[in-house]
Amino acid sequence: MAGHRIQIRGTVQGVGFRPWVYRLASRVGVVGRVRNDPRGVTIEAFGSQAILDRFTKELQRDTLPAAHIVELCETTIPDEDLDAFVIEPSGATGHRALSIPPDLATCEDCRKELLDRHDRRFGYAFTNCTACGPRFTIATGIPYDRAATTMSGFTMCAACQAEYDDVGDRRFHAQPNACPECGPALSLDRLDGQAPSEVNALAEAAALLSRGAVVAVKGLGGFHLACDASDGAAVRRLRERKHRDEKPFAVMVASLDAAHALAEISADEEALLTAAERPVVLLRGRQDAGLALEVSPDTALLGLFLPYTPLHHLLLDAVQRPLVMTSANVSDEPICYENREARQRLEGIADAILLHNREIAMRCDDSVSRVIAGTPTIMRRSRGFVPRPFYLSRPVARPVLACGAHLKNTFCIAMGDTAYFGPHIGDLETVAALDFFEEAIERMQTILEVRPDVVAHDLHPGYLSTRYAKTRDDVTLVGVQHHHAHVASLMAEHGIQGPVLGVAYDGTGFGEDGTSWGGEFLLCFAERYERLATFRPLRLAGGDLAMREVWRIGYALLHDAYDGAPPSDSISLLGDVRPSSIRLVKQMIERGLNAPQARGVGRFFDGFGALALGRARSTYEGQVAIAWDQVANESVSNAYPFEIDRMRTPWEVDLRPAVRAAVDDLGGAVHAGDVSARFHNALVAVTVELLEALWAERGDLPVALTGGVFQNAWLAGEIEAKISNKNRLLRHGEVPPGDGGIALGQALIADAILGDKG
Ligand SMILES: [Zn+2]
Ligand SMILES: [Zn+2]
Ligand SMILES: [Zn+2]
Repeated sequence: MAGHRIQIRGTVQGVGFRPWVYRLASRVGVVGRVRNDPRGVTIEAFGSQAILDRFTKELQRDTLPAAHIVELCETTIPDEDLDAFVIEPSGATGHRALSIPPDLATCEDCRKELLDRHDRRFGYAFTNCTACGPRFTIATGIPYDRAATTMSGFTMCAACQAEYDDVGDRRFHAQPNACPECGPALSLDRLDGQAPSEVNALAEAAALLSRGAVVAVKGLGGFHLACDASDGAAVRRLRERKHRDEKPFAVMVASLDAAHALAEISADEEALLTAAERPVVLLRGRQDAGLALEVSPDTALLGLFLPYTPLHHLLLDAVQRPLVMTSANVSDEPICYENREARQRLEGIADAILLHNREIAMRCDDSVSRVIAGTPTIMRRSRGFVPRPFYLSRPVARPVLACGAHLKNTFCIAMGDTAYFGPHIGDLETVAALDFFEEAIERMQTILEVRPDVVAHDLHPGYLSTRYAKTRDDVTLVGVQHHHAHVASLMAEHGIQGPVLGVAYDGTGFGEDGTSWGGEFLLCFAERYERLATFRPLRLAGGDLAMREVWRIGYALLHDAYDGAPPSDSISLLGDVRPSSIRLVKQMIERGLNAPQARGVGRFFDGFGALALGRARSTYEGQVAIAWDQVANESVSNAYPFEIDRMRTPWEVDLRPAVRAAVDDLGGAVHAGDVSARFHNALVAVTVELLEALWAERGDLPVALTGGVFQNAWLAGEIEAKISNKNRLLRHGEVPPGDGGIALGQALIADAILGDKG
């Protein structure tokens, strides 16, 4: 007989891990105990060596889909004389926050019950078990048990209670356990003046959807607006009512087979689609696959996801066609999540609301993932991930709250060797978004039982996240440069302390000199950075307005490339812009009036896209840049010329030769797809040339590719293919490359700046 202690770190609490270990132990024949500990789960197992080996092997092999093992550490301990395997109650000490896991997609066992006519949960929209169901979005406090969830008002019936109490049952201690006898129920609220009919809520909602109606559906972290994705008129109606002109809608499909019919899907993409987090996955859509054109009017990228609640499964099954499922809100406001606000906010948008009486305690938007140049990457880390801990290779010396950026805001709290991202907040531009931000921070502080006295924020004085930081009393504020934070987030993901060569390409970020940066080569350490290279700035006439009226950026490119006198035939590329508007923008640029300097690589995508595609305006952030990316002809391998001025500090990339060459091409009727490819190839060449030069000068350092521009597959893939030292390249996976990922870096930099002080 021998004894083994197995310590497991990761998301192993609140996912049915201990009962699962119990069942495995009983099957294999080991005795001992399993308990939650502050960092995960500890198992002490006793038996013959052969049985223990088999136990450990199976533990690693058939892990639960919802569990996420980060580390498994095994040591030998003295044998004990026991006759059973037991689940020990959780101790009062330790990291109680770990007990709240993220929300988990419906498991296979529950899905089968849902469809089984003989099961007591047949067709029941709130079926769940220890391996699946709502968690974070129903938790009202800690520790995570039923009394501290929005299920507290529902008393379990005898049958449910028996399952809950039976250690051999797959619903043992499943906090949201429920059935049609005792649990939440659906209802349908008609907003179109019609009285609800006698048939059941789900069937009536499905019938409405089939007739082209817009139905709001209460999900895990908020309401979705749903409509038939194959019905162009229905999708148009939804766009009009939601005031969303062209931004693509996500589409939910019933199964992986249905997804394959609509998009090209690789093995990696399939894994993302079916993961327990169930993110929206951005895929290359198939032409003429039956979806309405209005779903994603101007991009080949299609966001698909699979059902993740029993309600979704039942609805998709009843409707028998793909459904648009988009966050229920008007333009950029936070997602709607309360029954009482739903009716008021969705009046005039939805024809009916399919709702239920289980409250959502915390709103949480869908997450978004994409395989970027071979790497599965989380682009928006929210439902399914929050509040999963992120382990740090270097612990922070004190708890830190990091407030994130302005657009696509996510905050982060770091404490000890762990960091927690909050849910996706969105663009901090409205009072409603700011309220959500503050409320979410309060809540995360409550469940983590921490109130950090260090608060990290962006350097931009105008960001609402910065202003919020400054309203916190009795805290030490640390301002962190935006691109340094991007790089530090990626360093943390790879457990690297620096130095690192950071390449941060994005749309904008406040620079130390007060101008907007975003084409930055930074030598990064944990607490400081040195700026080695950047891009020659453009003047954005009208400031933020230029992000929508991208012709202003196109004109700025021309104005700079031709020393203030662009040829008139190049100006004709600006589409339907009035000459008087162009004269005004020219004046603003020349006088530097409301025309701030910007170095963001994302702005070059906007500007070149505006010129080559004749697109004067973006109806949503990045629209023209994305279109510009997508037209690129992959078979074109040559690049536009550029210069790098190494006499300046930092070095400066000059793309004016590229602008002139592109104008010549466009005048010579070269296809926009070829122009786009040469532009992309120029950016690849710039990056590779600078990296090789910096490696020669600074030594063989790891390179961190970060910033929103690296959501662009071409750029990341080609740079990787062309640099000499590929194994030094760091790319994003778990932490978003865009501004949704920077809070982690902010927290770590702030901690490093303060060092051992205070
Ligand atoms: Zn389940
Ligand atoms: Zn029940
Ligand atoms: Zn950024």
